[in-house]
Amino acid sequence: MSKKDLTNNLLKKSKKEPKLIFQEKVKCPRCGSLSLIVREYIYTIPYFGDILLTEGFCKKCGYKFRDVKVLDASRPKKVVVEVHGEDELRYLIVKSATSAIKIKEKGYKMLPGPASVGFITTVEGILLRFLEATKVACKGRELEPGCKENLDWLKKAVDGYEEFTLVLCDFEGTSSVKGEKTHEVPIDNECEELKSESLSYLHKK
Ligand SMILES: [Zn+2]
Repeated sequence: MSKKDLTNNLLKKSKKEPKLIFQEKVKCPRCGSLSLIVREYIYTIPYFGDILLTEGFCKKCGYKFRDVKVLDASRPKKVVVEVHGEDELRYLIVKSATSAIKIKEKGYKMLPGPASVGFITTVEGILLRFLEATKVACKGRELEPGCKENLDWLKKAVDGYEEFTLVLCDFEGTSSVKGEKTHEVPIDNECEELKSESLSYLHKK
């Protein structure tokens, strides 16, 4: 089981048979042919209850995407998790494709965009994704100051030796964090900034 992504693991524990609620063949955003099959299912999983799983697969070019949304009626919100050690690293997160995540102290960000996906993970899993991305970005430059500092910090954080703040901006009310030491506030400037960053990124493409 990948620590980075617990989606399949939790889907397997669905209390009910997954229910197919939508299926359609649409135009593929990558190759343009009408061979992208989109399917939506409702699963009833531990911790989060009913969730909507959207999967798309293009038979022609192999393009695929996945999104996960909690179906509990919820408002857009900002969730703040103060991480002090291993307990908080185990908090479960449904991160839908339209949500943004930021590690406040380090400025690491996951922005919503055309390539973003939804998944279920833990706080540790989020760190592992940042670690993986940093390893790729720093390939061959691991000892350079910026790279070394970030790689060292992320490895220590994964092991529970760093304190930090994880911010999840849930613009559609489709994400969720399960853990005691979390607090929810309305969407604020910090979230709006992440949103405009992802929009300007879209604009540049
Ligand atoms: Zn395609």
